[in-house]
Amino acid sequence: MAERVIPLVDQRLVALRAVLPARPVPATGLVADARGRPLRDLRISVTDRCNFRCSYCMPKEVFDKNYQYLPHASLLSFEEITRVARQFLAHGVRKIRLTGGEPLLRKNIEILVSQLAGLRTVEGTPPELTLTTNGSLLARKARSLKEAGLQRVTVSLDGLDDAVFRRMNDVDFPVAEVLEGIAAAREAGLGPIKVNMVVKRGTNEHEILPMARHFRGTGIVLRFIEYMDVGATNGWRMDEVMPSAEVRARLAAEFPLAQLEASAPGETAERWGYADGAGEVGFISSVTQAFCGDCNRARLSTEGKVYLCLFAGNGYDLRSLLRGGATDEELASAIGHIWQGRDDHYSELRGTMAADTGSGGRRVEMSYIGG
Ligand code: SF4
Repeated sequence: MAERVIPLVDQRLVALRAVLPARPVPATGLVADARGRPLRDLRISVTDRCNFRCSYCMPKEVFDKNYQYLPHASLLSFEEITRVARQFLAHGVRKIRLTGGEPLLRKNIEILVSQLAGLRTVEGTPPELTLTTNGSLLARKARSLKEAGLQRVTVSLDGLDDAVFRRMNDVDFPVAEVLEGIAAAREAGLGPIKVNMVVKRGTNEHEILPMARHFRGTGIVLRFIEYMDVGATNGWRMDEVMPSAEVRARLAAEFPLAQLEASAPGETAERWGYADGAGEVGFISSVTQAFCGDCNRARLSTEGKVYLCLFAGNGYDLRSLLRGGATDEELASAIGHIWQGRDDHYSELRGTMAADTGSGGRRVEMSYIGG
């Protein structure tokens, strides 16, 4: 059993100052970072709480009963989140994903969904509005989320075998309830639905084929995610990573596959189709096939910090500007300035000395800024 690292410094409590640049950065919809990557995708974490304890994200030994969640007053309100999202859209964002922790734990999240659904991209169209959930509350919430304006959901599900699933979520939560949630989301029209399975060698690779058999032919897109060294607490080891190439070979042995075109620049999943037309699967290979080259994602933490990479150490504190009386133009200028200075490409550097410069090796927790 890998040694778990108990964090000494709580990354949630450190922040970089978001400054108002001397030369304002107006929102033109065309801002690009230091590598020429546009800003197209905003992931908004609406809570640092979760009701699961998946070992690769929120290990129970660290996130135990004494773990201090962020006080509610420190979280951005729905109005503040919507105001910040409006500035990101003005800089070119087309897609908004709600994450957590577990976003459905945030009370009245439908109110936020309807506020975000009312926003517009620079083209005057509604943003693509999606949400990533562990599915535990989806059966109850699917219809109201759809009515509020949510378009689709991505459900994290690491196995179909009930014992394996209960072991992986580490709170003994039954797989049947997540499957009911997926069925309710389908019923409500929250699609196309995607299902994300993190594959950890020695834990659940034997679930790859049962998951494929279950979801193929249903219109639900199953994606296999390589186990990642996110945060500083999951005791990540390379020998527990099953490369996507190996997962794909296992799958293709039973179901021949053909590669598909990416559906949008910056897409994280490599798309493959079943040769017999039974649908699509995806592979998210941050460890063995870095995709930083066209990464166009920014992340907003639940209390208003902007992170420029899933593996970042620090985020920029927008809340001080928000609550300090900044105008929308000033907020947009600060966001543009932050993005222009972005040079992140951790996955291309993984394993090299350069990988963790700037964060001292303390990467922010995925449970805090969302996947
Ligand atoms: S490692 Fe960072 S820069 Fe690279 S794809 Fe992931 S989030 Fe983007």
